[in-house]
Amino acid sequence: MSSFIKWSPQVRDLVGDEVLRTLCRTTKDYNCMRCERDGRAARERTHVIVVCPPGMPYFIQFAHGRCAPSQVIRLPQSAMTGEGDPNYSEQVITTQFLWPTSEGFLPGLIIDRPPGLTVVRANGDVDDLWTQLLLRVGWDLLVSLDQPCRHVNTSAVELSDDGGTGRVVFDDPDHSDSRLVLVDRLPALLPEWRQAAADTGCIRILAGTIGTASADHRVTEADVIAAVQQGSVVGALVPVAAR
Ligand SMILES: [Zn+2]
Repeated sequence: MSSFIKWSPQVRDLVGDEVLRTLCRTTKDYNCMRCERDGRAARERTHVIVVCPPGMPYFIQFAHGRCAPSQVIRLPQSAMTGEGDPNYSEQVITTQFLWPTSEGFLPGLIIDRPPGLTVVRANGDVDDLWTQLLLRVGWDLLVSLDQPCRHVNTSAVELSDDGGTGRVVFDDPDHSDSRLVLVDRLPALLPEWRQAAADTGCIRILAGTIGTASADHRVTEADVIAAVQQGSVVGALVPVAAR
């Protein structure tokens, strides 16, 4: 239990005592949100920073006590679209691909989010926020790359007809009437991919922390297999919806 971890009243109001207790119990090394150097929660004063993107659940980051005060940061809408600042829009890398099947091709997406967007699980593990949320809306934890995925109607790939791309949304497990955005903007979609999406009406999506961002932004099968073996990838068959 680290007593070096400190938080502001605003942080406590937002995340609650139980999450903070779990953070104290489980947080060890981290990457400081401000100076980006290593931090050690067991030995150095460490501040909890909660980041709230618009329309999304919060995520928890850490900073050295000397680098930034404990605080709640509410990101502006512009942070979601890649304009202006952001520590946030950084780094979701989405790759399109086609899985061969006996009937043709199944369109797919690999969504790679950076580590560090973490949430605390009930059992005390600190886990990737998105993986956690997606499991709660019915996605499967993958144990192998060719594992079949379930159809989930809690999620949708919204494709636009006007030559634009699309986005991926899913039901907010904590608010029954709202949806969260998993990917705000898909990459330019190939005609073959769009055709396969029109034919099948669903997309096979793998999402998790794969590590594409740290290399040259190209996802490789080896990267995905390694991430699956670490238990950090979830998958689902997600229906296509018009936007
Ligand atoms: Zn720092």
